[in-house]
Amino acid sequence: FPTVSVLGVDFTSITNEQFLHQLYADSQAGRNRVIVTANPEIVLFARQNQRYARVLAQADYTVPDGVGIVDGAKILQQSLPERITGYDTMLSLLAWANDHQKRVFLLGAKPAVIQKAVANINHDYPNLQVCGWHDGYFDDEQAVVEQIKAAEPDFVFCALGFPKQDYFIHQHHQAAAAIWMGVGGSFDVLAG
Ligand code: UDP
Repeated sequence: FPTVSVLGVDFTSITNEQFLHQLYADSQAGRNRVIVTANPEIVLFARQNQRYARVLAQADYTVPDGVGIVDGAKILQQSLPERITGYDTMLSLLAWANDHQKRVFLLGAKPAVIQKAVANINHDYPNLQVCGWHDGYFDDEQAVVEQIKAAEPDFVFCALGFPKQDYFIHQHHQAAAAIWMGVGGSFDVLAG
């Protein structure tokens, strides 16, 4: 897929539907993939932070999580078809994981929140397997990485907030051949 540069960040130019089909194919093929859904705040942060800019540059898919970015592309006479949000993408991937009995690891949010989110996912998507989960307030990062590795997930949803989740994924995504995505405050919504 072509990329479109908005304020120095290369976005994948793709519709929601194309993106999901690509991710389903990636998952079926067992590919290791990193997704960042970047909003304007993230783009501005990347302009001031070299380390974060590198994390974005090395993601497999950086998609526009905000109409501001889609509009920005238009002003530059480039085309990003539409906004792609982490939350909606996660819901679609959960539904697909349910249909294909895939393994899902959930990392992040406060202990009571992640516990409730896992219970809701187990209820709503009974055919996927939550192969592991951990709250987002840990000291022993390596132990969490080992837990993910042992769980052999197909999907890792990481809700540690920005930019922490993206650094975590960047650093540790070799722990599992999975689709890794930062999902911000999504577990709070799922637990809701
Ligand atoms: N979070 C976490 N660990 C942290 C910081 C945040 O698990 O060290 C979680 C927080 O509980 C919330 C999510 O990350 O569920 C998103 O946090 P926030 O709203 O601060 O971030 P943003 O929405 O800006 O990404």
